Amino acid sequence: MSKTILITGGSRGIGRATAVLFAAKGWNVAISFVGNRQSADETCALCEQAGVAGNAFAYQCDVRDEASVVGFFAATRDRFGSVDGVVNNAGIVAPQSTLADMDIERMKNVFDTNVLGGYLVAREAARALPSGGAIVNVSSVAAKLGSPGEYVDYAGSKGAIDTLTIGLSKELGPKGIRVNAVRPGIINTEIHASAGRPERVGELGPNCPLGRPGEADEIAQSIYWLVSDDASYVTGAILDVGGGR
Ligand code: NDP
Repeated sequence: MSKTILITGGSRGIGRATAVLFAAKGWNVAISFVGNRQSADETCALCEQAGVAGNAFAYQCDVRDEASVVGFFAATRDRFGSVDGVVNNAGIVAPQSTLADMDIERMKNVFDTNVLGGYLVAREAARALPSGGAIVNVSSVAAKLGSPGEYVDYAGSKGAIDTLTIGLSKELGPKGIRVNAVRPGIINTEIHASAGRPERVGELGPNCPLGRPGEADEIAQSIYWLVSDDASYVTGAILDVGGGR
């Protein structure tokens, strides 16, 4: 029987690429979206084209809302019978600002989405996953760089995700569940345009040892490896996938 991967924020970007890769490897795929139903439907169609099992479904879930996250896990179990891996991917960046100029609503939204949302998804994963299951949290190289003058709120939110990864790996290791994180560098997705800076990919992407921005597929490959049995002795790891950035 196919295993099931649950991916938050699978409608676009890194989540979509990850969903399509898991489908191509024969997994059932459950993705969430918050507003873009059409994009989510497109991801499901891509999964079904790529898929060996051909099973993909989309669920509207706002990770800031506890009932919504609980509902996404329940709907996935109802549909596929189990959740075997979780990609804790949904996240946002707010427009460029120094901390001195940030208003509280923006900061609350970043922390509610990236930290509270990330912790809620991880909590449900801890409740749902069987022995042999795996969680991959999507952090950012910002967690170690701090993103001064850009978004120190976002960087701090991803620092919390790194710490979650370390702590939860120790809680769940004895249950046979692995917990790891990837830290993407500058990746060519819509997140930069959402933050009002589509030019960021072209301007800052080449500013790393590999001299180019990354593509969502390249993050998906690292996420897939960390979930797969090929990484059976890897837990508590935080893997930079940023072209050396
Ligand atoms: P995108 O903006 O392309 O996609 C974001 C996804 O998250 C969408 O599926 C969106 O759903 C969903 N989402 C947004 N807000 C919520 C919410 N409140 N509840 C549930 N889902 C939500 O982003 P990326 O693919 O670039 O980013 C994915 C992850 O990678 C994020 O955690 C990000 O911080 C991280 N990352 C990205 C980098 C990059 O350069 N791209 C670099 C480092 C880290 P919908 O389509 O419905 O809006």
